[in-house]
Formats: sequence, C-alpha cells, structure tokens
Amino acid sequence: MAGLCVRSVLVTGANRGLGLGFVQHFLKMPNPPQWIFAGCRDPKGQRSQELQNLASKHPNIIIIPLGRCPEVGILCPSSSGNVEGAAPLPCATSMCAPVPSVSSQAFLPLLKKAAQGSPGSGLSCSKAAIVNMSSYAGSIEDVYVWEFGQVVSYRCSKAALNMLTKCQSLAYKEHGILCVTFHPGWVQTDMGGGGSFKPPLTVDDSVQGMLKVLSSISEKDTGTFLDWEGKVLPW
Ligand code: NDP
Repeated sequence: MAGLCVRSVLVTGANRGLGLGFVQHFLKMPNPPQWIFAGCRDPKGQRSQELQNLASKHPNIIIIPLGRCPEVGILCPSSSGNVEGAAPLPCATSMCAPVPSVSSQAFLPLLKKAAQGSPGSGLSCSKAAIVNMSSYAGSIEDVYVWEFGQVVSYRCSKAALNMLTKCQSLAYKEHGILCVTFHPGWVQTDMGGGGSFKPPLTVDDSVQGMLKVLSSISEKDTGTFLDWEGKVLPW
C-alpha cells in the first residue's frame, strides 16, 4: 500500500461492509486522503452510525447521500435467485451496473482534472482511477460456484459491470484514468455472510489485499478483472 497516494476518493456503499472497510483503511494510510467522500443512501440512518462516528472524529470524511440503485440483478442472501426466478431480486449490495456508469460519467470531469494535474506519464491509482466492485460470480467463462447458488440476476449484473469496466478502460485511457473491476473474495459482511457458511475472509483481509493490488497496478492492467490478491480472473 506504500505506493498508493490518494488525494481524494469517493467510496460508494460506505456505511457498512467493504465500503466502510475502505474508508477505515484509507484513514489508516501513512498519508490519508485529503478528502474521503463517503457515499451512502441513508447518511442519518441507523445503519450509517459507524460511519457517522468516524466522520465526527475525522474532518476529512464528507458523508454524501447517494441515490438508491434500481433493484435489478442484485444478490439477496436469503434467495437462490434461480433461472426461473430471474426477475429482479431484492437488493443487498453496494453496486449495480447502471450506478457505476452514471456516477463515473458524473465524475468524469473531476477524474480528468485529477489525471491532468498529476505528475508523470502512464496510468495509476494515485493519478485517477475507477474501481468497480464486481464478483467472480459474474464470470461468464467460469460461472463460479453455480452449484452453491444460481443467483442469475446477480451474475448478470456483475457480468454487465465487467463489460462496463472494459468499455470505461477503453474510453478513458486517453484521459489518463485507470479502470479495473474487482472480485473482493468471499468476505464476512452482511451480504457475504448471509448464507449457512462462514466466509473465509474478513473485511480487513479483503480491503487490505485490494489496496495492495491498487498500489501496484499500472497502465498494462487497465480494463482487467482482478481478485483481491491481484490474480487476473477470466471474463
Ligand atoms: P454489504 O451488504 O455489507 O453492504 C452493502 C452496501 O450496499 C451497503 O452500504 C448498502 O447500503 C448498499 N446498498 C444495498 N442496496 C442498495 C441499493 N439498492 N442502492 C444503493 N446502495 C445499496 O455488502 P458487501 O460490502 O459485502 O458488498 C459490497 C460489494 O462487494 C457488492 O457489490 C458485492 O456484490 C461485492 N461482493 C461481495 C462479496 C462478499 O463476499 N461480501 C463477494 C463478491 C462481491 P444500506 O446500508 O443503506 O443498505
């Protein structure tokens, strides 16, 4: 993580799970970001209490309300979401395909500005980056852990998010913006721990791993699908 130098960052779904983990880890960096914009849909709600507590101690955290993602193709821990039930499922995630698309378009001018204002050539996460939170479940080639749960709508939304990342990487390369999509591992969050098995990874393990990967990736990695340890995953 030593190589990562972030001046400002927007984290979506920042009130719990992996999003909150990212905020906590950004704060612990040797050079924490000047601004951490922590987006969540209910900033004053009960589920944002931990984020509110953090923000009261760290003035570089700005909590911002972010609109609700349409409830299409999202994993509900209590539902297998099989093929017959491929209609939209209840939502339990921080990302779905349309939201990263709209938000990255909205923030494009700022991302371009950040890239232009950073020294050096090539792409890096210290310059300007879009990091989409996907899942190995969205891999069309592997259709990972199909036996454990079909979750068709979820898989489709993540496959779409992966395609979006690829398109973003092609469109934004000339503007100096690096784009990747991540599988965070199977993590002990409300969503990851919703079934009968305990996930192997803590939020800390996963976020620390992803930040280490983010600190090391460069131009050659833009448009790739990576896991929390930096392994390239099949589309
Ligand atoms: P959590 O359930 O812990 O957190 C979900 C977050 O998403 C919360 O901030 C929640 O806000 C927000 N959210 C839920 N529904 C919506 C909605 N409709 N619109 C906007 N925000 C919403 O999930 P994780 O931290 O585990 O998941 C984060 C990402 O990582 C997701 O994209 C997930 O698919 C991906 N992932 C997670 C894995 C795991 O094992 N945990 C494995 C693979 C991928 P609120 O508190 O308001 O409900």
